[in-house]
Amino acid sequence: MVKAVVGACWGDEGKGKITDMLAADADIVVRFQGGANAGHTIVNDYGKFALHLLPSGSFNSNVTNMIGNGVALDIPQLVKEIEDVVSKGVPRPNIVVSERTQVLMPYHRLFDQYEEERLSDRQFGSTKSGIAPFFSDKFAKIGFQVWELFEDERLKEKIKNVLEVKNLMLEHIYHKPAIDADELYKTCKEYAEMIRPYVIDSVTFMHNAIKEGKTILLEGQLGSLKDPDFGIYPMTTSSSTLAGYGAIGAGIPPYEIKEIITVVKAYSSAVGAGAFVSEIFGDEAEELRRRGGDGGEYGATTGRPRRVGWFDCVASRYGCRVQGTTAVAFTVLDVLGYLDEIPVCVGYEVDGEVTRDFPTTARLERAKPVLKVLPGWKTDIRGIKNYADLPENCRNYIEFIERELEVPIKIVSNGPARQDIINK
Ligand code: GDP
Repeated sequence: MVKAVVGACWGDEGKGKITDMLAADADIVVRFQGGANAGHTIVNDYGKFALHLLPSGSFNSNVTNMIGNGVALDIPQLVKEIEDVVSKGVPRPNIVVSERTQVLMPYHRLFDQYEEERLSDRQFGSTKSGIAPFFSDKFAKIGFQVWELFEDERLKEKIKNVLEVKNLMLEHIYHKPAIDADELYKTCKEYAEMIRPYVIDSVTFMHNAIKEGKTILLEGQLGSLKDPDFGIYPMTTSSSTLAGYGAIGAGIPPYEIKEIITVVKAYSSAVGAGAFVSEIFGDEAEELRRRGGDGGEYGATTGRPRRVGWFDCVASRYGCRVQGTTAVAFTVLDVLGYLDEIPVCVGYEVDGEVTRDFPTTARLERAKPVLKVLPGWKTDIRGIKNYADLPENCRNYIEFIERELEVPIKIVSNGPARQDIINK
């Protein structure tokens, strides 16, 4: 049985917590896209962790955690994260890495940084983790799959060929020092030894796991609106954030994905540039940012303050739709308990017309939010275990949004910890 846990909007919806919770009943958790450019925050009995590459099943010793072929694998970063959780008392996680996963090279980070410098005020707001140059190389077929690190002669030859073009770019576009082929080869051999214990034939592994009826979770990073096809292009990420891509990025048949749990946050937040129709500013925003998430809305990878706004029904419904959502996990609801009234964005006014359908980027940038104001509940709902015990206005808020999303909300999260969960 394969389930995907994915995000409906810009990311940071609380997927890490939901995956960590569902991992209790899972055999395998797979990262299938993205890289170390975003983070999940997980709070559990061992403490609070910001994971970037490690799958969220890493705290559960019964779970095998796989880095799928769709991921941008930053090898030193992965090893660092493993050692970090172990040093904090977590039993050594069971990690496997597909031999077909592509390796993020040190120069991908450099090119990311140099390109943002070159773009100056037109930059994409990249986290500079090398993700865009990495995926460009993957699809230009000048990337390196994990198995290539173990084929010495081929590796040497390929490094020579790849550096030919990279060094021309460094010299003529970026005016930066060239990369030395021997140096890079040495680094690749170090990477090979670091990753060797984890490498598997993931296609056979997943095939057998499905045949044996194992419970498998596909863990998405970021959310629908960062998808390169359906998101706010070009202010998106470089790999698909959609559950459908889980079939490719984990190497399984598409029809095996039976449940798609889309994580939707009770208000909006976004990191980086790009259209954000229901964004709020000033004191109102500062208060939500300070109270938001677990200890404020600040990026898990970058520490950047996140942009915040009211719940956006248009973006979230679209986000759920492109995921193919079967159930919604509605998170961080407890944070809204301070508000007398809660605005939600129910439509976009674009060029004088109101729409409920999510537009392409230029129209999105011209969109103004149509707000509807719902009454708040003015109480702390943390600790509540039963849906019926939630204040009436809180249930009304959930049910209003459920109607707007057009998919059932089955899980409500009312606090950062694993046990802060209400099944609806
Ligand atoms: P992810 O990338 O989707 O996993 O999201 P992040 O981990 O970046 O952001 C979610 C933040 O919200 C984290 O700090 C979580 O600990 C926190 N969080 C998750 N669920 C809840 C919740 O129901 N209530 C509160 N207050 N915080 C939550």
